[in-house]
Amino acid sequence: MSHLFDVYPLYDIEPVKAEGSYLWDTNGTKYLDLYGGHAVISVGHCHPYYVEMLSKQLHAINFYSNSVKISLQEELAEKLGDLSGYPDYKLFLVNSGAEANENALKLASFHTGRSKVVAFTKAFHGRTAGAVAATDNPSIVAPVNYNKHVTFLPFNDVDALENGITEEVCAVIVEGIQGVGGIQVSSDTFLQALRKKCDETGAVLILDSVQCGYGRTGKFFSHQFSGIHPDLMTMAKGMGNGFPIGGVLISPKFKASYGLLGTTFGGNHMACAAGIAVLDIMKNENLLDNATEIGEYLMKGIQEIGGYKELRGRGLMIGIEYDFPVKDLRNKLLFEHKMFTGVAGANTIRLLPSLALGKDEADLFLEALRIEVTSLT
Ligand code: PLP
Repeated sequence: MSHLFDVYPLYDIEPVKAEGSYLWDTNGTKYLDLYGGHAVISVGHCHPYYVEMLSKQLHAINFYSNSVKISLQEELAEKLGDLSGYPDYKLFLVNSGAEANENALKLASFHTGRSKVVAFTKAFHGRTAGAVAATDNPSIVAPVNYNKHVTFLPFNDVDALENGITEEVCAVIVEGIQGVGGIQVSSDTFLQALRKKCDETGAVLILDSVQCGYGRTGKFFSHQFSGIHPDLMTMAKGMGNGFPIGGVLISPKFKASYGLLGTTFGGNHMACAAGIAVLDIMKNENLLDNATEIGEYLMKGIQEIGGYKELRGRGLMIGIEYDFPVKDLRNKLLFEHKMFTGVAGANTIRLLPSLALGKDEADLFLEALRIEVTSLT
């Protein structure tokens, strides 16, 4: 009998080996991974360069506190600034997406001296007390009183911003593409209106890029389709390809001072080695272009199969919404076709594969989907 606190359901499958976009369980059964543990596997499982970089680091030094110089942090910040197109933003390193959002909200509050937060319907920002308060999902509860400072406005509704964002607001937090909320893409006009309204009121604009960032959409950050520049961007998931690491990219208008933020594990040697390896691989293997190309290929294939209510997303962040619950479809893909996918809500299949996914692997999925969707109709 398990002694774990039982708060999420588990599939009775234990992956024990992985390579690229494939996993093997304890029986040696091979699975195609189209979900990457909620968008975490960005450059592919056990990429040889990634394994080499982490192994080398483990043999050199695996941890020391932030009271000493860690050049790996600077290397990571520089490479991230270059690849993301934000070379003048500063990086604060943490360990997870929720922690990144928590620190972004703190920074916004310190910077403005205000406490009100605006978030959007169906948003998901993580499970720390502050981040969960800005999350709008009936199955995820915030601790008592934490959400008293948060107002939820309708997502993608430009008109609602006019009165919804006032000079009392310290931060507006939004996902470039809502992940848990169902792969809902923030429209360019919505993001542009948000930027404008934040400029008018002095509110800090936070783009939660934890799921939709790090190259997943074919641009480094999904908001880059709209041309806006946020004040703060949060990231995690694909940043370490499975090694826990998160970060906040911070606009030059924020002034750093000792004691403002802090962390024990954030920016540790192993996490930085993982983060640098991911950026090197993304750059050397042109994974942003691959995400665009294979994303378009998958979208086209899914359109040809049809049978869905709505197809949403960008690059390799894809939501296929049906007009029926997708639990059985997902189980068939997993148990009969040996493919991991995810869901968002009851009716949407969510695909978040490695950014290195190949055409052959996309074809395997499309064939399985075609068989299952045809059998339903
Ligand atoms: N923000 C978004 C958009 C997410 O999708 C998630 C996790 O799914 C988080 C924040 C929280 O990240 P973490 O689970 O690493 O704390």
